[in-house]
Amino acid sequence: MDLTDQRPHRRFNPLQNEWVLVSPHRTQRPWQGQVDKPDDAQAPAYDPSCYLCPGNTRAHGDRNPVYTSTFAFDNDFPALLPDSVGPAANPGEPLLIREAERGLCRVMCFSPRHDLTLARMDVADIRRVVEMWVEECGAAAARPWVRYALVFENRGAMMGASNPHPHGQLWATEHVPNEASREADAFAAYRRAHRACLLCDYLAREVRLGERIVCENDAFVALVPFWAVWPFETLVLSRRHAASLADLADAERHALADILRRLTARYDNLFVAPFPYSMGFHQAPSNEAAGVDWHVHAHFLPPLLRSATVRKFMVGFELLGSPQRDVTPEDAAARLRALSEVHYGARKSDAAR
Ligand SMILES: [Zn+2]
Ligand SMILES: [Zn+2]
Ligand SMILES: [Zn+2]
Repeated sequence: MDLTDQRPHRRFNPLQNEWVLVSPHRTQRPWQGQVDKPDDAQAPAYDPSCYLCPGNTRAHGDRNPVYTSTFAFDNDFPALLPDSVGPAANPGEPLLIREAERGLCRVMCFSPRHDLTLARMDVADIRRVVEMWVEECGAAAARPWVRYALVFENRGAMMGASNPHPHGQLWATEHVPNEASREADAFAAYRRAHRACLLCDYLAREVRLGERIVCENDAFVALVPFWAVWPFETLVLSRRHAASLADLADAERHALADILRRLTARYDNLFVAPFPYSMGFHQAPSNEAAGVDWHVHAHFLPPLLRSATVRKFMVGFELLGSPQRDVTPEDAAARLRALSEVHYGARKSDAAR
């Protein structure tokens, strides 16, 4: 395949069963649109007004413990409720379809430090975050009606994160959400057609080609997928065919913490600024009667395009037709691959000594 051909083309995303337009020549066009303010204010280690910092009081008066590692609690403004049965389904109505949806919304603090991020935490501390994700997913799946547990993080004001304190969320739902549901169909269809796992086969190809790999270790590979939509989108893949975070062995959980630190440090180093993103794990649905074919992975979906202030918009053709990208996935991977895994903040403080 000739990947130096810069002419417009489209690529197929087999996980979502959709196409993305690739228009490499368009990155030359002049920019006269929105320039967001860089999100670079240095946060303090403790913020008395932060509802996530240890010992502080939250919206409805609950006080956080003086936690020293990780801390999880029920979201004070949950989008879903565990006990609400909701409006009944309306069978026989083909166009106004609704169902009740129960759920859990948990908030998970990664660190007591208000000023840290995954990119600047130690691997040992990120490992504790991985354990918290496993425990929280396990607790959610212990409710027999929970079919899906989605762990995610919104980082940066550009992604709508309301608080810089390092934290993620878990939403557990009574139904498998759209993205995971489409992936479940894709895994099943690929298994029927090829008698193999879609992501095991994809990873083997990417490792052989190397051109979209960003970084890797013994148990995980971070790469820019061939069908990436966001300019610096990455996929973090378990080398082993494991269905969920809970299935990861001890060494694999450590390796996951390692790859998350290295990838997020590269992201921050790209524009020498805190790099906004939404990231989340796709793992097998819970409480399925039959076993589910699944390969655990994380998606990082960052909005930035050419600097800490110029973001990609999903508008016009992208909203109404197909997603489109300018930088090729191969170029994005090469740029991320060339960066240091030492966070620029650590290098600055070394230089100051
Ligand atoms: Zn805080
Ligand atoms: Zn697999
Ligand atoms: Zn996925």
